[in-house]
Amino acid sequence: MTTGKLYIVSAPSGAGKTSLVKRLTAELDGLTVSISHTTRPMRVGEQNGVDYFFVSLDEFKAMIERQAFLEHAQVFDNFYGTAQRTVELALADGTDVILEIDWQGAQQVRNMLPDSESIFVLPPSIEILKQRLRGRGQDTEETIARRMQDAVTEISHYPEFDYLVVNDDFETALNQLKSIVIANRVAQRRQQQQIAGLLENLLN
Ligand code: GDP
Ligand code: ADP
Ligand code: 5GP
Repeated sequence: MTTGKLYIVSAPSGAGKTSLVKRLTAELDGLTVSISHTTRPMRVGEQNGVDYFFVSLDEFKAMIERQAFLEHAQVFDNFYGTAQRTVELALADGTDVILEIDWQGAQQVRNMLPDSESIFVLPPSIEILKQRLRGRGQDTEETIARRMQDAVTEISHYPEFDYLVVNDDFETALNQLKSIVIANRVAQRRQQQQIAGLLENLLN
């Protein structure tokens, strides 16, 4: 049985990772995105259990207590975490899993699961990043200012990532993400499991 590959996708808020990951999972089979838990308020248009599992601070703390998280971190003024069980089940099933998490979570996952691949999505400029956050029309000016402040810290962690994708033209960035996933599917170590029967036949 082949186990799935774990991908970490990080980016400063507004760089386009949610839009990219949505299209990526819609267009590639065998790839799913992990739904995080968060204490942040729901945005207009978001759905509980679809975009995030929206939980109270007390519920979040209880999950930390019972070690339900693969990783968790405070981002801006809220807590975000990845539930361990759902990720493990999907990977065991042979499905590739994407975690859309911040650099702190990325460090934790990389340490625990060194076989994971990590991708950092960059905006083409700081100005465009700000325009996208504004254009999304979801956050107050105060939130946008806070996210812009943290963007540089987030970006400074780029050397920790295996791949850097610049989200200037959306379709180009999407193709680059697809290429990463597809290339990993034909890596020798994975193919040794996936086409074990064929390899044995060819050699006998
Ligand atoms: P969010 O998670 O709330 O930020 O929602 P999305 O990430 O799905 O953003 C929805 C918006 O993304 C849409 O209104 C579109 O403007 C934009 N979008 C979706 N697909 C594309 C695309 O192919 N190219 C570009 N440039 N924008 C897109
Ligand atoms: P993140 O999940 O990284 O916070 P989003 O996916 O919500 O970012 O994208 C932020 C905004 O930028 C959204 O309104 C999205 O439609 C827009 N956007 C994403 N990628 C591009 C792109 N390549 N060109 C123009 N706009 C984009
Ligand atoms: P947003 O509130 O815009 O959806 O996400 C804000 C930030 O939180 C992003 O940088 C995103 O990567 C991060 N984030 C979302 N879910 C998780 C998670 O489960 N764990 C960690 N560590 N960060 C997360």
